[in-house]
Amino acid sequence: MSTNSIRLQALQFSVAGLLKGPMGKTRTYELRLPISQVDQLDESFDVTGPLSGAVRFLRTGETVFTEVDASVQVHLECSRCLQAFDTEIDFEIKEEFHPSVDIGTGRVVTDLGDDDALIIDEQHVLDLSEVVRQAIILALPITPTCQDDCKGLCPTCGTNRNTKTCDCVDEVIDPRWDALSMLLELQDDES
Ligand SMILES: [Zn+2]
Ligand SMILES: [Zn+2]
Repeated sequence: MSTNSIRLQALQFSVAGLLKGPMGKTRTYELRLPISQVDQLDESFDVTGPLSGAVRFLRTGETVFTEVDASVQVHLECSRCLQAFDTEIDFEIKEEFHPSVDIGTGRVVTDLGDDDALIIDEQHVLDLSEVVRQAIILALPITPTCQDDCKGLCPTCGTNRNTKTCDCVDEVIDPRWDALSMLLELQDDES
């Protein structure tokens, strides 16, 4: 069991040991975040199951290359039939985190890149919260569907066509009638 990198909270890791080690050193952890903590990341998503997956840290020359492979169950509304449903979304993260303090010399590092979410703090804590939050938002479908062949709602009476059939007739206009009606309109215009 490694004492070099310590897990603090679910998405926070002390990477002091990793930073002191040689280039190429890696650490792998299981990620598991209860629903209440995933919910706290952002109001815009509604999770119904814990986040689970794995994280791998790799010590590079200047940074800690971080890979996350995880999934979480979310509650969505179907864009066709408007029914609520739960679905599992998978997401991956590949990012380089920059130490804000050089662990060898104690010097403050000034060249940290332009993303605050990717900075390892002065206590050598690497926090995945923000990158995980962004990854979940990006992984959410823009037009969620409860099933691939969701039939949606009847545009006339609003019946959910997945569960019931209504008597409404779709107004499908035969192209031949279409041509005829155009002719009629033309005649109307002329008269
Ligand atoms: Zn649907
Ligand atoms: Zn109908």
